[in-house]
Amino acid sequence: LPRYRVAMIGSGAWACTAVKMIAENLRSPEKGSKFVREVKMYVWEEEVDGRKLTELINETHQNVKYLPGCDLGDNVVACPDLIETAKDAHVLVFCSPHQFIHRMVKQLAGHIRKDAIAVSLTKGMRVRPDGPQLISEMIRKELGLDCSVLMGANIAADIARGELSEATIAYNVLANGQLLQEVFDRPYFYTQLVPDVVGAEMCGTLKNIVALAAGFVEGLGYGPNTRAAIMRAGLDDMRRLAKALYPTVRDATFFESCGVADLIATCTGGRNRLVAKAFVEAQQAGQPHSFDELEASLLHGQKLQGVLTSHEVQEILRRKGWELEYPLFTAVNRIVCGHQPAAAIVHYKAAAAAPV
Ligand code: 13P
Repeated sequence: LPRYRVAMIGSGAWACTAVKMIAENLRSPEKGSKFVREVKMYVWEEEVDGRKLTELINETHQNVKYLPGCDLGDNVVACPDLIETAKDAHVLVFCSPHQFIHRMVKQLAGHIRKDAIAVSLTKGMRVRPDGPQLISEMIRKELGLDCSVLMGANIAADIARGELSEATIAYNVLANGQLLQEVFDRPYFYTQLVPDVVGAEMCGTLKNIVALAAGFVEGLGYGPNTRAAIMRAGLDDMRRLAKALYPTVRDATFFESCGVADLIATCTGGRNRLVAKAFVEAQQAGQPHSFDELEASLLHGQKLQGVLTSHEVQEILRRKGWELEYPLFTAVNRIVCGHQPAAAIVHYKAAAAAPV
């Protein structure tokens, strides 16, 4: 029987953590008959301390820039060529910042196996004239592959240390979801299958906006009641917008790791929250910084997803005339755009309704 070859498209902190788990599985004797031991990882080539990042990864088995100190495994092979990474793979794992995926899939079209399957770990969407396009939809349309998603409460560095985490694998084709469970499941990483790709992906995408709101209230010094109130309001906007855009979305998905658990993890420990908190603190100290400046100074080359997603979602809300129906999302966008002070987040309905 042919053995499955897995490829990782991405090399940030989450991609490296995910590839470490995949590599552990591919090395395990029970999986040896089913999977090829080596996993190629596409790395956007850059210089780190005068050396190529791919060379450093292949020598040290660590991504010294994005996940220093974590052993990825000797069966992970960093590759600077996207097509070379993906062309023989049966399972393509997409895990790059969402703003880069469209360019990548355009480049990959026509160069991958027709029987490959895809899974997206990327949380985000693209706005098109006729509405939103989720990353899984983009991959399916541009590459003609079935695309599942893996979403959950997954702060990369904590999983890299082996701390217990859960994730949701949402599938269209059950057999593909089951194969992906074999690729990802670890004793410290439990995955659950749900048949709601769009619901899981909308959760993963939209919670990044709520995390900005959570960072604002934390930066403003509010306690747990206010933070919980904002998370609840955000979850409400998430669920209603996901269902308004995609009527097949299931309520049950919001109770999975990809839903409320990811919301809590991201609002209490993620980068969007961190940068939003710093945004407020800088404003209050009389030395305001833009989100771009804070991303550059706080995230060490990683990309912030929430601000872009806020603009993308707001574009959809504006086009549909729905801005007041999703007051928390709208208030966050007003703050991000500088139309409202961050303090307005606790009066988010009024902030959403105020003239721009
Ligand atoms: P951040 O991008 O805010 O760090 O979110 C992390 C995350 O999605 C955890 O599941």
